[in-house]
Amino acid sequence: MKEASIIDEQAADSEKVQVGHLKEHTETERLEGAAEHISQIKQLRPEVWSGLTEAGRESCLRQVGRRLSEAYECPAPPFIGSRLAEDDRGITLGEHSDDEYITKVNHKVLNMNESGRALETYSHEFRHAYQHEMATRYNSAFRHLCHDETKAAQWAENLKPGSYVSFDVNAEGYEAQPVEKDARDFAARLKEEVRRRQ
Ligand SMILES: [Zn+2]
Repeated sequence: MKEASIIDEQAADSEKVQVGHLKEHTETERLEGAAEHISQIKQLRPEVWSGLTEAGRESCLRQVGRRLSEAYECPAPPFIGSRLAEDDRGITLGEHSDDEYITKVNHKVLNMNESGRALETYSHEFRHAYQHEMATRYNSAFRHLCHDETKAAQWAENLKPGSYVSFDVNAEGYEAQPVEKDARDFAARLKEEVRRRQ
């Protein structure tokens, strides 16, 4: 009996080590898989993008959302081009609201002839939706379904009411907080991986 329980424990340990290892590998695989599929969207190629109307560009970014949603096993919130805040410090490029469950990208970004910029802005906002999804799982009975519990715990903490620092309150604090840093890194990596494949 005792032997058996020791063996079970060891088996459980080695499984944990393996799962941990796989999880780390999986974020890169997810990102590269998403980049692979997104790079096949013709409308996103700079030469095609430049000939699209604003509505065409919106629909192109919705396709990006579907690819990201598949790769990250997380729904992409409804998406629209919008007029967003603008002042002497700059313009808001994109916005994700978890309460309204919507992703917005500034009209001005859609009207630029830079598909890479639009992709980066859109995927930054998608990443926020993903962070919320993971934080929600972390705070629920589905914690084991988080892709990375350490990151999910960090995001859950950062997204707690009162913890998120808005740009208007403190621009530096806004840039430095975990969810913003992660969204920036994610979007920059994805843009680069897509560009390499186009
Ligand atoms: Zn952000």
